Amino acid sequence: MTEGLQPVGVDFHCHLDLYPDHEAAIARAEAMRVYTLSVTTTPRAWPRNHKLTRDTRYVRAALGLHPQLVAERSDELPLWERYLPETRYVGEVGLDAGPRFYKSLEAQKHVFRTVLERCAEAGGKILSVHSVRSVAAVLDMIEWYLPLDRGLVVLHWFTGSKSEARRAAALGCYFSVNAEMVRSDRGRALVADLPIDRILTETDGPFTQIDGHPSEPSDMHVTIDVIARVRNVPSHEIARTIQTNLQALLR
Ligand code: MN
Repeated sequence: MTEGLQPVGVDFHCHLDLYPDHEAAIARAEAMRVYTLSVTTTPRAWPRNHKLTRDTRYVRAALGLHPQLVAERSDELPLWERYLPETRYVGEVGLDAGPRFYKSLEAQKHVFRTVLERCAEAGGKILSVHSVRSVAAVLDMIEWYLPLDRGLVVLHWFTGSKSEARRAAALGCYFSVNAEMVRSDRGRALVADLPIDRILTETDGPFTQIDGHPSEPSDMHVTIDVIARVRNVPSHEIARTIQTNLQALLR
């Protein structure tokens, strides 16, 4: 982070390029001083995302190839590799073994393995990783292909078990938590159990909603309040912890 005003919050997984007005969405996150990781879904979107976030203070763009798009876009992997030197941030990447995407799982694994290997070679990357119905496979691949001293993983919208969360933490992973995750008892129990020094907030906007409108980075305070309630800790303390965690991750 550059010197000057510290961010007031963290949205470590948001798709700013999927809002009707991409530039306005970036400008709002900047104005609200929310440190926002703006993930992308296809390497073709990278040049514009990169250009619009070159001089931003709080918004960072991440280079992605979304597992749900691998079936149609695995041929963009060489493009992803070409752009990797332009950024420290990678995402959205990972695996999705849900019923709609199961058919492309082998292709997804090939892409994700390449992503992890290239990140390990480059060193110092931070990855926002999707793991729907595939937590064990995602953790296996992180363990095999991305040693802890070669890059850091933030598991986005983690839905694994408590024991999988412990395994992820032992592998050095962080968790970006959103408000949807704590709508169920199981989700709340998981969030209560995550290591506090590995938690970040995210919105996954515009795919989640707050009060009937698509979430924005400034809605991260809703997640802070929920984490605070679930863990029985004051909100301001959670907010401070998340700032500390962000600094540790970026260091
Ligand atoms: Mn997402």
